[in-house]
Amino acid sequence: MDKDLSQLGIRTRAVRVGTSRSHEGEHSESIYTTSSFVCDSAEQAAARFSGEEPGNLYSRFTNPSVRMFEERLASMEGGECAVGTSSGMAAINAVMMGLLKSGDHVVCSLNVFGSTILLFKNVMARFGVEASFVSLVDTQAWRAAIQPNTRLFFLETPGNPLTEVGDMEALADIAHQNDALLVVDNCFCSPVLQRPLEFGADIVVHSATKYIDGQGRGLGGAVVGSKALVGGDIYSYARTTGPTMSPFNAWIFLHGLETLSVRMRGHCENAMAVAKWLDQHPAVAKVNYPGLETHPQHALAKKQQSGFGGIVSFEVKGGQDDAWKVINNTQFISITANLGDVKSTITHPATTTHGRLSEEDRELAGITRSLVRVSVGLEEVADLKADLDRGLSLLV
Ligand SMILES: *Cc1c(COP(=O)(O)O)cnc(C)c1O
Repeated sequence: MDKDLSQLGIRTRAVRVGTSRSHEGEHSESIYTTSSFVCDSAEQAAARFSGEEPGNLYSRFTNPSVRMFEERLASMEGGECAVGTSSGMAAINAVMMGLLKSGDHVVCSLNVFGSTILLFKNVMARFGVEASFVSLVDTQAWRAAIQPNTRLFFLETPGNPLTEVGDMEALADIAHQNDALLVVDNCFCSPVLQRPLEFGADIVVHSATKYIDGQGRGLGGAVVGSKALVGGDIYSYARTTGPTMSPFNAWIFLHGLETLSVRMRGHCENAMAVAKWLDQHPAVAKVNYPGLETHPQHALAKKQQSGFGGIVSFEVKGGQDDAWKVINNTQFISITANLGDVKSTITHPATTTHGRLSEEDRELAGITRSLVRVSVGLEEVADLKADLDRGLSLLV
């Protein structure tokens, strides 16, 4: 389709951008399950391999189903282009390996996804890339962590599991003043609630596994940004090394994007109701949710996000046994570390997602043994409250 859809609203772009119909005229986008593509002549093959002529050659390079997903997501994030990957971690790895070299330095927020921390500490460190970890909300700490070789800032906002909100505009300014790039993992909000490029970020990464799919069916990820960065070194790295998104998963995510805005609205609504209810529960010591007026960065969340998201965490009065009691007494909320699903999930971060951190690092990050995280799904709010109350009511 050649029509210019770029000026249309995000909900229209979510269902219309990127669609490429074959001669069969199919309405729903197709899954192109092919590893390679056929050329008409040796001349055409040569022109395509040299890059003189656009066109598909091999699915590690480009695939029509993956491209439809990339174009749709790029449009929703307000980026020039996107590269789909086999998982969220593959997307983050492609950014680091595509842009950094030995001797470079990265500043990263302390509260990022556990595997991201391990990527810096266990993998990138072996290739001579050093990382410093600072608090997401302490803007001065980011400035202080800068070294002459700092190339990149990396953050997630809201943070996991405490939902702190980082000031993207301020951090983009600091990064740019020092010739560094700001990379934001936008997994928790999705482009429906927050578009980091509008606040000065240079690159957005996604785990499509979470809200973009939204129904727990497959792994995938994406990098979004300018043609120069994402279409350049990051795409080249991915094309050469092969963290490729499968066409089938691209098709799932492409359709996930179509319903993302209605799902995110449902997640936000349910999470707000659950957070407010938890906030007045006698067995709950503290609730973390950016939508609560008592959240320390509530005003910043309102500025950056058009909704407060589906992740709520809370501390029970008591310790790990009490937190586990709440988790073990649920009847339908799934006990799993995954998030962003229409099915609500419940997690004890200190012994699962953040279990590999030392007790000291965990305390530094504010993740106590009484903390429980809920990824609020799309079930009835009354049922969610009742399921959480089965354990909570035992604590009072
Ligand atoms: C899950 C997750 C990732 C990693 O994504 P995978 O698809 O599991 O590789 C990265 N960042 C955040 C915030 C996540 O929640």
